[in-house]
Amino acid sequence: MPSTTPHTKVAIIGSGPAGLTAGIYAGRALLDPIIVAGTEFGGQLMTTTEVENFPGFPEGILGPDLIERLKQQAVRFGTQLISENVTQIDIESRPFRLTTERSSLTADAVILATGADSKWLGLESETHLRGHGVSSCATCDGFFFRGKEVAVIGGGDSAMEEALFLTRFATKVYIIHRRNELRASKIMQERAKNHPKIELILETEVKEILGDDFVTGIHLLNNQTNETKNLPVSGVFVAIGHIPNSHFFKGQIATDDKGYVLIDDRYRGSVSGIFVAGDLHDHHYRQAITAAGAGCAAALEAERYLAHELHTNVQKG
Ligand code: NDP
Repeated sequence: MPSTTPHTKVAIIGSGPAGLTAGIYAGRALLDPIIVAGTEFGGQLMTTTEVENFPGFPEGILGPDLIERLKQQAVRFGTQLISENVTQIDIESRPFRLTTERSSLTADAVILATGADSKWLGLESETHLRGHGVSSCATCDGFFFRGKEVAVIGGGDSAMEEALFLTRFATKVYIIHRRNELRASKIMQERAKNHPKIELILETEVKEILGDDFVTGIHLLNNQTNETKNLPVSGVFVAIGHIPNSHFFKGQIATDDKGYVLIDDRYRGSVSGIFVAGDLHDHHYRQAITAAGAGCAAALEAERYLAHELHTNVQKG
């Protein structure tokens, strides 16, 4: 009996700007790509309000609207989307076999673009006020806090970088860190400590984010003295790290110790035929536009790989 498993030349896993841009390019290259979009379509941009730094939108665009436009553009060139999560990739078989919760498909090449999720504190008030003063991206949202006081949570390089960036707009930036020692590199620590607008509050945890419709402050606990206090701020930037969505191929494709996929200078993963784009490998820039650029590059590389494979197979045949 013939197999009913659908087959595609290129399967793209993930539907943020990296995956959708890969879909546009692979679609225009007539590769009939399938995007396995996940059940949470669109990635981190779906929880972003105004995106003001994506080129071509001088008035800005809402994150979900940008995703919708990218999707329409990918679909226009014949890209199919499946709203399922990939649970497993068989990297030993050729074509590759992708298993989702409900079905499976095979693909000659795979572009991984599953992104990374920001880590959050896990407070209900944080979820409620996300996009209303709570953010995980100063580059995206810092501009909205001109002339205001804000807090950055975390003690790593991201927190220092976010805080320094926010000094361009905010009148005061508090860095709240749970220990008495910062994790950030010495140079970043020094820059933050020496900045006149930045104040460090150490050995302190955020217990609640205050405000009904917008952030009005944070409730803090000093974990050494058990003293509590409310700090009035208009913005809270949570910078306590990210988690790359690489769990479903763990151990099969090379990653660093945090789970970010390692690639070469042509967006190739450690397994031939697997390409990678966006925050799944890039913990440095983490921008929609850099993810989209990487999606383009990964699709061009996948196209070249397939052309080469086809050529080699024809010669062998
Ligand atoms: P890190 O994992 O380095 O730091 C996370 C910070 O958040 C730590 O200080 C940690 O505290 C704190 N934290 C974690 N969970 C919680 C929690 N639940 N509540 C309160 N605080 C918490 O992540 P980063 O995103 O800062 O950096 C990731 C990588 O990217 C690093 O290797 C970094 O060097 C690199 N990077 C480099 C930059 C540069 O060079 N310009 C810029 C940004 C990132 P604790 O210290 O107590 O564990």
